Amino acid sequence: MKVVIDQEKCVAAGQCVAAAGEVFDQRDEDGIVVLLNEHPPTEQAEDVRQAAAVCPALAIQIEE
Ligand code: SF4
Repeated sequence: MKVVIDQEKCVAAGQCVAAAGEVFDQRDEDGIVVLLNEHPPTEQAEDVRQAAAVCPALAIQIEE
């Protein structure tokens, strides 16, 4: 799994961090998403898919 984020689309909603805090973080200054791990391990894959599904800005893409 490869994760791609689009910081231009991100509206700093934070759902991705709630769903998969090992993979996503938010910038302190404005809450824009930060990708912690571009290639999360299999055991985190479901959480990452959930994060992509709940992101209101569709700013998270997953390449399998
Ligand atoms: S859920 Fe989407 S909009 Fe919200 S912080 Fe994460 S990437 Fe940004």
